[in-house]
Amino acid sequence: MTLHDAYDPNNIFAKILRGEMPSMKVYEDDVALAFMDVFPQSEGHTLVIPKQVEARNLLDMPSDYLGSYVQRVQKVARAVEAALSPDGLVVSQFNGAPAGQTVFHLHFHIIPRWEGKPLGRHASGGMATAEELEPIAKRIRAAL
Ligand code: 5GP
Repeated sequence: MTLHDAYDPNNIFAKILRGEMPSMKVYEDDVALAFMDVFPQSEGHTLVIPKQVEARNLLDMPSDYLGSYVQRVQKVARAVEAALSPDGLVVSQFNGAPAGQTVFHLHFHIIPRWEGKPLGRHASGGMATAEELEPIAKRIRAAL
């Protein structure tokens, strides 16, 4: 698998975009969808994915779509900050499996951090339940 393989329309985030798989949404417009990461590395771990494009990673993303998409990433990051008052916020993005990418539809992670609280493992921690995620998602939605 390389950085420039063909986009797989059956990746999990494409299915979420088509409504074929559930997700705990916090924000959606014509440009992007944001939802809770189901294997959160910290409380409030949120993903923001672009709509309208079949981009596996940042390198694939048509630059005309990038500005509006990154605006949504910032908008959601600000809401996560307002909702959860973390001490810091990781905004990260991986390109290709060797770099840590596990789902091949472009996405940014928004991961709140608190002093002294260790970061959970990437894409391999425990799966959060809807009951755990919903109250956090509700607070983020209220801040948007
Ligand atoms: P990557 O490893 O590609 O940078 O990030 C993929 C992220 O998607 C991981 O943090 C992982 O926990 C999350 N993830 C994987 N499958 C699902 C899923 O079915 N639903 C949600 N909400 N997140 C997922």
